[in-house]
This record gives sequence, structure tokens and C-alpha cells, in this order.
Amino acid sequence: MKLHCNVEVHNRALLSMSQRKSQRSVLTIGKQSDKDDLYIFLQTLQNKKGTKYKTRNNVEKVFTRFIDDGKATIRLKEPSHDLIIQSEAIQLKSFLRVLKLGLFKEVGCMPHLRELLISQNHLGRSQSKWKWIDQAAIKKNLHLLDISSNVISELPVQIGALDALVKLQIYQNLLKNLPQSIGRLRNLKHLEAARNCLSHLPGSMRNLQLDYLDLSSNPFLVYRRNTLYRHMHMTASLVECAAVAFLKTRIPYDAGMLPRTLVQYLDNATYCSVCANGCFNRFIMGYLEIELRRISCQTKITANATILFECYFCSNKCIRYF
Ligand SMILES: [Zn+2]
Repeated sequence: MKLHCNVEVHNRALLSMSQRKSQRSVLTIGKQSDKDDLYIFLQTLQNKKGTKYKTRNNVEKVFTRFIDDGKATIRLKEPSHDLIIQSEAIQLKSFLRVLKLGLFKEVGCMPHLRELLISQNHLGRSQSKWKWIDQAAIKKNLHLLDISSNVISELPVQIGALDALVKLQIYQNLLKNLPQSIGRLRNLKHLEAARNCLSHLPGSMRNLQLDYLDLSSNPFLVYRRNTLYRHMHMTASLVECAAVAFLKTRIPYDAGMLPRTLVQYLDNATYCSVCANGCFNRFIMGYLEIELRRISCQTKITANATILFECYFCSNKCIRYF
């Protein structure tokens, strides 16, 4: 992506002695090939060959306080340059969004990343905000994910594949529900989901053993509780039979070992709230109450809130065990 703008390059190593001048410039974000890292390319009339800045682990901070006036600064670590940008505000915002998304995508390739704190980034509006989540390294190593205050209205089902996750902070977003896959986070101990739009919770949360759960300030609804709805009329397809059998093995899967369409099919499984086996087109569901102390040692909820769980059962036998 290209941005026509005025850029003043401030070299922090030279203190204030240098003459600072804003120049008509073209900034480009891109990659030379798929294998290359993302870079920022700065060209001016005087310097047509341009200067190339690495972005991976090299963007120290992006200052956006005056973004509505079309001003922002990208602070780089090496060389220690501040790119002070002035441009049309909407174009500048899209340019910085592309930079941010490019950096997030690269986040998934960091094999030792254990904590990802990306609160207050307006991620909600972006279509590709979850691209990093499918990376194998992230699934195995990420312990803490903070995506609070991001105007997010939906969590991806793949969040359930973050095997190492211990702490998940999703408070102050626009979430109406949580994916059933959240019940697969067997290492999760701390979940903060306060100040969202949650109307109910996934029944799979019955499988969690948390130390702390914050659900305060959510508009939980009271459905026709304890009424069960059956969706068992369809004969199971061969794909469904195979998928159910595969999920029973609990073998972790990803697009590296299975075709992507099959991965998507498996990701969309609902899980029985009792035996945790996957179900697809044949299940019984209902909004039921689950004692919160069964899920978490310490729970914070708004006084008098009744919280119902969207529960799925693979069979009549599992309903009897609920
Ligand atoms: Zn079951």
C-alpha cells in the first residue's frame, strides 16, 4: 500500500542539532516476496532510490494522538528514526491499519511468543484481525491473550485451539455470545468477559476449571429454560460420521494435516456438554442452568443475574448424566 504524504525523518541519535524538514514523500508498506518480512519504504524527490525500514520486531511505537488531524509518528528501533507523517486523515488511518495487520500476521510466526497484549486497537472493524491465530507456534505457546476494548463482536472458533492459554481477557467488547470451542481450553484459569453484550454462555464451559471468572455487566437473557429441542431427524452423512469419530480421538488437527475444508468443518462442530464429543447435524439442545461454582472458584457477576448455558447433547444418555 502506498501513501502520498509529507514526512519528516527525525534521527533520535543526532539529538536536536539536525535541521528537521518535512518533505513530500511516498511511503510504501510491502514485501518483496512471500518469504520476506514486511518493510516500510520511504521515497522522496531527492532520494528516489528510497530508504527501506524493517518492521518485524522493529516498530517501537506508533503515535496516533493527532490522527484525526492527519498526523502520526512511527518510531523505529533500528535505525533510531521517527517518521513524522502528515497526510489526509482517512488515508493515513488505512495506511496504519495495513501496517498493524501486517505486524499481527507476523505475530503468529514468533515461536516463543507467550503473551499477546493488543487491547484498545479498534480491531473489531477489520476483516483479517484473526489471521495470526492459525499459526502452529501460537497454538502451542500462547499463555496470555488480552484483546479487551477492541469493539469485537465475535470470537473465532479457532480460539479453542489455543492449547496453552491460561489467561484470556475479552472484556469491554461487543460480544453477544462465546464460541462453544472455548470449552476446549483445558489450561484456562482466568477469564474476564465483563462489559460485553452476552445473552447466554456456551454449555461447553462446563468442562472448564477456572480460578477466576468475571461476567459482570452483561445483559444475560432468560430463555425458556430447561426446554430441550431435538435436531436428530437427519441421517448422518459419511463426512459427519468420520468427523465425529476423528474428534473422539482428541488428536489436534490443523491445515497442515487435513484439507482446509475439512478443518473448517471440524472447527464448526458443537460439543456435547457432558461427554465433550463433537456433534454436527444431530444433537439435542437447550438453555440450562449450570452452577457457576462448578466452573470457577471465584466468580464475579451482576447481582441477581440468571445465567443460562446453551447446552448440546449427543445422545439421551448424556442428558441423563447432566
Ligand atoms: Zn455426549
